[in-house]
Amino acid sequence: MTRISEANETPTACTAGEAGGEIQWYESRAAQLGTGLTIRRALPLRHRRMIGAWCFLDHFGPHTFEARQDAMWVGPHPHIGLQTVTWLLDGEVTHRDSLGSEMLIRPGQLNVMTAGSGISHTEETPDQHGDRLHGVQFWVALPDHARNVAPSFEHHENLPEVTVDDARLQLFYGSGFGATSSATVHTPIVGAQLDLDGVVHLPLESTWEHGIVSLTGPIQIGRRTLAPGELAYVPPGTSGVGLRSSRRQQVIVVGGEPFGETILLWWNFVARTHEEIAEATRLWNRGEGFGEVHGFAGDRLEAPSLKNVRL
Ligand code: MN
Repeated sequence: MTRISEANETPTACTAGEAGGEIQWYESRAAQLGTGLTIRRALPLRHRRMIGAWCFLDHFGPHTFEARQDAMWVGPHPHIGLQTVTWLLDGEVTHRDSLGSEMLIRPGQLNVMTAGSGISHTEETPDQHGDRLHGVQFWVALPDHARNVAPSFEHHENLPEVTVDDARLQLFYGSGFGATSSATVHTPIVGAQLDLDGVVHLPLESTWEHGIVSLTGPIQIGRRTLAPGELAYVPPGTSGVGLRSSRRQQVIVVGGEPFGETILLWWNFVARTHEEIAEATRLWNRGEGFGEVHGFAGDRLEAPSLKNVRL
């Protein structure tokens, strides 16, 4: 059986989902966030660009603060055409943006920043912090009819919890498993954390595609092991998957209606054409069009050059 990575290119299907297509297994790639924090990136991969409207899945930690590079420190940078979805399991992060938002997020809370036509923001470990950091930050592509909406920022503290086969599931984004998050969404989509301890039969919306990532340790999906740093992709046509672990593990489940639009993802921008990305890059690097973030004691991030690049 072949695992998928950027270097190993052919997706290989195995364990069948119930009444659906075959689950595909991918390996996340290592990436760096801001100044040095190493993360696992489960989307985009060369052969799996999106799951529903989810187009970027980053998992950071668990880190302990023995070293300064384990802190989060991401200077001012812009976004267009997407929402950022931030969810923590441990620690705290301070968000600031060009709308004037300043928000400390803690585990069990959700930050959703809608970039729409353009926003800039920073993220950092606050001065007063615990000794651990663990969480996820995802991007959701905005569909064509919403991708130029005015930018906004939301913080949610009262998110629905449901029980699936005795396991706690926190529904932080979208709708699914009998619950709906209060966060603003623009496509049929779901994002949840499942606390798996034993056996769970997870029902899935069969017209959607889903992704499963374990954040803490290995779990079993069917007869196969899914370890942190891997992504299980469940294609449409699947009505449920069986998950199992003999130890308590935190698992992220994302899903949605297949997006149906081709996006261009470059640096921190989601758009449709090279020209849109080039214009956003030009504006940002001239210090125009994305407002200003106040209160962050570091340098803004420069957009990489698009010279000699055709997207
Ligand atoms: Mn960002």
